[in-house]
Amino acid sequence: MSQPLIDLQHISKSFDGEMVLDDLSLSIKENSFVTLLGPSGCGKSTTLRIIGGFTPPDKGTVIFDGQDITKLPPNKRQLNTVFQKYALFPHMTIAENIAFGLKIKNKPKSYIDDKIKYALKLVNLSGFEKRDVTSLSGGQQQRVAIARAMCTKQPIILFDEPTSALDPEMIQEVLDVMIELAHENITMVCVTHEMGFARKAADRIVFMSDGQILEENTPDEFFEHPQTDRAKDFLSKILT
Ligand code: ADP
Ligand code: MG
Repeated sequence: MSQPLIDLQHISKSFDGEMVLDDLSLSIKENSFVTLLGPSGCGKSTTLRIIGGFTPPDKGTVIFDGQDITKLPPNKRQLNTVFQKYALFPHMTIAENIAFGLKIKNKPKSYIDDKIKYALKLVNLSGFEKRDVTSLSGGQQQRVAIARAMCTKQPIILFDEPTSALDPEMIQEVLDVMIELAHENITMVCVTHEMGFARKAADRIVFMSDGQILEENTPDEFFEHPQTDRAKDFLSKILT
């Protein structure tokens, strides 16, 4: 067995005396696509933020590729995050937005141009380099945010409800791009409410409730044979 790429070990986190994550452990394999599901407030975003380094755990250890990274700041971690709101810079072109992360690392222009091309192709926006952010739809903007996250080629990408701020007709185009990305050599950890997408695209479903992982399974097993009453209840509410 190869070691997991990410290993959360006995993570606990409280906010204002409220336990939000309670001794949570989770192993994520390299190049897998893991989806976190569970009712609102159960700790999905906090789990992602702890993987990303944005929130320090009170207890427990975050391991990346065998190394303890619990105290490493987000910019030193080998990952990118796509949030619900596609925080693009409105006064920059698409190319400038994507290049931002590369430029500050002093990369040469030819390298940056190649990366922008590669990233825009991945998200089906080839030729959009010179466009203004404001001329794009919400779905296109989120795809640019994904392109920006992909162009630095980090081994992990975290998604926190990447489609929940989008108009319904734009959701699918972003989900399709994510399904494409899942075929790249990349480890994806995603929080989503798109159940059809989770079932089709994810390798593993992690079901959380009250700051704990209650189930971890393949999508087909999870959706067809949920084991716990909480998961059954969650699915009956969300699938009706
Ligand atoms: P989910 O993403 O599953 O909806 P979250 O991880 O965002 O849940 O939040 C879990 C709980 O932690 C919620 O009760 C939320 O209000 C609380 N919480 C999250 N972040 C903070 C914070 N920075 N300060 C205080 N409470 C927080
Ligand atoms: Mg959340």
